[in-house]
Amino acid sequence: MYQPSEATVGRARIAGRAAYDRLVAEAEADPGAYWGRLARELLAWKQPFTQALDARRAPFFEWFADGTLNASYNCLDRQVENGLGEKTAIIFEADDGAVTRISYQDLLARVCRTANVLKSLGVGRGDRVVIYMAMSIDGVVAMQACARIGAVHSVVFGGFSAQSLRDRIADTGAVLVLTADQQVRGGKQLPLKAIVDEALGLGGCDSVRHVLVTRRTGGAVPFQAPRDLWMADLAAAQEPVCEPEWVDAEHPLFLLYTSGSTGKPKGVQHATGGYLLHAALTCQWTFDLGPDDVFWCTADIGWVTGHTYIAYGPLAIGATQVVFEGVPTYPDAGRFWKMIQDHKVSVFYTAPTAIRSLIKMAEGNDAVHPRNYDLASLRILGSVGEPINPAAWEWYHRHVGGGRCPVLDTFWQTETGGHMITPLPGVTPLVPGSCTLPFPGIDAAVVDEAGNELPWGQGGILVVRKPWPSMIRTIWGDPERFKASYYPEEFQGRYYLAGDGAMRDKTTGYFTITGRIDDVLNVSGHRMGTMEIESALVAMTDLVAEAAVVGRPDDTTGEAVCAFVVLKRPLPSGDEARRIAEQLRNWVGKEIGPIAKPRDIRFGDNLPKTRSGKIMRRLLRTLAKGEVVTQDVSTLENPAVLEQLGQPY
Ligand code: ATP
Ligand code: MG
Repeated sequence: MYQPSEATVGRARIAGRAAYDRLVAEAEADPGAYWGRLARELLAWKQPFTQALDARRAPFFEWFADGTLNASYNCLDRQVENGLGEKTAIIFEADDGAVTRISYQDLLARVCRTANVLKSLGVGRGDRVVIYMAMSIDGVVAMQACARIGAVHSVVFGGFSAQSLRDRIADTGAVLVLTADQQVRGGKQLPLKAIVDEALGLGGCDSVRHVLVTRRTGGAVPFQAPRDLWMADLAAAQEPVCEPEWVDAEHPLFLLYTSGSTGKPKGVQHATGGYLLHAALTCQWTFDLGPDDVFWCTADIGWVTGHTYIAYGPLAIGATQVVFEGVPTYPDAGRFWKMIQDHKVSVFYTAPTAIRSLIKMAEGNDAVHPRNYDLASLRILGSVGEPINPAAWEWYHRHVGGGRCPVLDTFWQTETGGHMITPLPGVTPLVPGSCTLPFPGIDAAVVDEAGNELPWGQGGILVVRKPWPSMIRTIWGDPERFKASYYPEEFQGRYYLAGDGAMRDKTTGYFTITGRIDDVLNVSGHRMGTMEIESALVAMTDLVAEAAVVGRPDDTTGEAVCAFVVLKRPLPSGDEARRIAEQLRNWVGKEIGPIAKPRDIRFGDNLPKTRSGKIMRRLLRTLAKGEVVTQDVSTLENPAVLEQLGQPY
């Protein structure tokens, strides 16, 4: 266990376990009063709400429903009114290293111009706008501009194919697509506008009236008048002032499709008031962001992390943040560390997949090891997206955080809007591999299939028993799927079902995420999380870079363990592969027990991942069964590895 240091506790907004316990007790006693108090303290309301929670239409819960506000006003105008106009809102670093800073007042002016452009094209309250852009100030401006006029944005990650983009445009019924001519990543120019054209050409996108294009590279792109328009031409004619559209708290702020790790992506709908509250609150309590911090969240605005912890949260509390266009490995794998050094980043938030790949690179090339950079500005580190295995956690803590920065393993989902289970830096002693305790007000529990709470120490299903403000409101256009997915009959619609398995520690009550519900293995009657076996494999730090474990049906044992492994050495084959496989099996047997020994082990240069960097376990399950992959692989980043992983040892 790592205790919070005196320095961390000394400046933390929530300091000490007693302070945490008081908040938890306040929330438990009266959730409406608790969240209502915070919503009044953290957000500026045009029309104050009179009731915090309305549960009459449960599970379609409503929060602050008779209050009105505007998200963009809360993120921008409010800061300017509070004297932060000249404070840097965004430090943007381009792929080639060029740095642009924009102040709150300049960001506000840009958002207003863009909002006026949208209005001039007839876009208004409730209209959907798809944003297909790369990491840029323009991307954040586009999102904020939609929020300003009450339009509902749906950001599609700039790495998605025309088909994925088309599906999302068609599902949202967007009236307009905002994009850029091209994007630049890792020294390469990649298309954006051309892919929008291709997507619209696939059909089903008749709702789209205009494609609004910003310039990034100035490269030649196909252009179709009168449908296509250059943002710069239109913006020049607009005033840098735009009265915000005051919307009800329940007005949808955005739609965002989930990563697709487990199946067809779902169009998650978030509401303005509750979402913004949690975005702001978690920036203050989890990241402890204060006036002098420089925050950097490395997520893309195409994922929920880039929404909550780039486009909304940091701005809603007037923080300074870094936005990065490029990739962590260009021009070399020291890029993150160099940027932390250059911008004096104090709070850094990234994903386990990035950490694991940077570990591998740093160990292969000492020049890009974090020890070569001055990372003294760091005070808090965060992780999100997947479970972070203890070996990666320890490395992050030691080599990036210098042993002094807490590593916050934040568990949450697109559907939850913000952190659900997470350490608070000034409160929670840390245990590598555990996301520790629920955020105050989040009533998380581990239950069995019948919905009964399980004793600590027993693995089960993660649920949230009480509604909370930033929860998903519905799946766009499919309320039945919303109910079936998140408030299923099996729990009589009482609990929000996260879809993840979890276990609470016997003595501390700390939560560990054990994997997706369907990732819990049952080998000869023994239930175990795939995560545990993965952690054991990755703990062989000099041999294994990354590992994923799934089950496959087996006649004698019910299920058999299959491990997919990326080594820190060239891809082995034949006898060498068999020898390493045996070594790994023995290690797992020793670490966890013979029952957990993988039946087959498969090696690859990489693992199949979604565009958000998550391991696609559903694909691995198909491979483990020896079946042909027929699933939707549209969100797969590196299809080539499927073949290597077909060979069991
Ligand atoms: P889909 O819902 O389409 O299958 P997805 O669940 O990967 O995709 P996201 O909402 O981006 O889409 O990811 C949320 C999931 O990521 C969580 O349900 C959990 O499985 C995993 N996750 C996120 N953070 C953590 C964490 N700190 N520890 C463990 N798992 C995490
Ligand atoms: Mg999910």
